[in-house]
Amino acid sequence: MASSDPKPEGFSTRAIHAGQEPDPSTGAVMTPVYLTSTYVQEAPGVHKGYEYSRTQNPTRGALEANIASIEGGTQGIAFASGLAATHGVLSLLDAGARVVIGHDVYGGTYRLLDKVMSRQGLTFDVVDTTDLEAVDAALKKPAQMMWFESPTNPLLHVSDIAEVCRRARACGALAVVDNTFATPYLQNPLALGADIVVHSTTKYLGGHSDVVGGMAVVADADLAARLKFLQNAIGAVSGPLDSFLVMRGVKTLAVRMERHCDNAEVIAAWLGAQTRVRRVFYPGREDHPGHDVAKRQMRRFGGMVSFDLDADLETARRLASATRLFALAESLGGVESLLDHPASMTHGSVPRAERLRHGFTDGLLRLSVGIEDVDDLVADLEGAFEQAFA
Ligand SMILES: *Cc1c(COP(=O)(O)O)cnc(C)c1O
Repeated sequence: MASSDPKPEGFSTRAIHAGQEPDPSTGAVMTPVYLTSTYVQEAPGVHKGYEYSRTQNPTRGALEANIASIEGGTQGIAFASGLAATHGVLSLLDAGARVVIGHDVYGGTYRLLDKVMSRQGLTFDVVDTTDLEAVDAALKKPAQMMWFESPTNPLLHVSDIAEVCRRARACGALAVVDNTFATPYLQNPLALGADIVVHSTTKYLGGHSDVVGGMAVVADADLAARLKFLQNAIGAVSGPLDSFLVMRGVKTLAVRMERHCDNAEVIAAWLGAQTRVRRVFYPGREDHPGHDVAKRQMRRFGGMVSFDLDADLETARRLASATRLFALAESLGGVESLLDHPASMTHGSVPRAERLRHGFTDGLLRLSVGIEDVDDLVADLEGAFEQAFA
């Protein structure tokens, strides 16, 4: 009788076990933090697969195998930060290559292309990836890479990942998705046709705002080898302690994301009922223009909620300073709730006219909804609204 393949393990099981073997020398259940730069060799060139920690480190290797598994890839490549991962992936390209990027990619991604990679001969164009006709038009000129995010920051625009990737690959461009906002628990771009997935593990994967890290994940063996080479050649690797912290975060990703989503849904509904709120941006709302696409490609809708306050800059700033639980801070994805006023914080360097053109109004506020008791979060917002409009 032919034996059938075992049923693939579920997400949470893989998040906890993939890449995690009890330590062979002691039986330690948790992957040790291998704080070593080098490894002894039995004879010149005879070793256990580890020579030097920029090239291989067991703690980093465990993290790479773990995230590759939950993202549905075969190889993870861990970097010192999300931007280091971005730099590693862009380094696949030769001088003269053209990159097409989404119109509201992470600001640091734009800055890296605009201020650094462009000096090394990469060119890039910006396209609204929510508009497939615009994507077709942008791909009329040869391109070697298409780079986009869904949902995006701070307006949570949703792009059809399968359709954008299909178009990019049909033109011979590598399709890269920065999946930081959705996480592998809610969305798997490789399964939707992406060649490479990038994460800032600083955010939901780490999940506790205590580490900076990045990851690229691929399924293709040739891409894996090229990225492993670049990781070692450039050297911006994830250190062993950072790798351990991200791994510890990932173990609870599924339960955290469920709670982030539960809380964000309640808060988005509460915001939607406020007369002082002009608009709520949350892919889980039926009035969100990307809701149907999001429903198709995401399991739930995430923990990020933005809203446009019907008020001037000063009032928005007053509200942003009046919360007690929502900490006024950049970044996102930790267990604690954070609040960002893009006009004065994350997007403060963007000229006002440009900001407004993108819909980043003076009254726009972005919430990274944490996993506290949601009643307390709503009460916190209620209090801040009262103070801001007193
Ligand atoms: C934070 C972030 C990055 C950059 O990651 P770092 O770890 O800060 O270098 C890239 N993309 C997105 C979507 C992010 O939120």
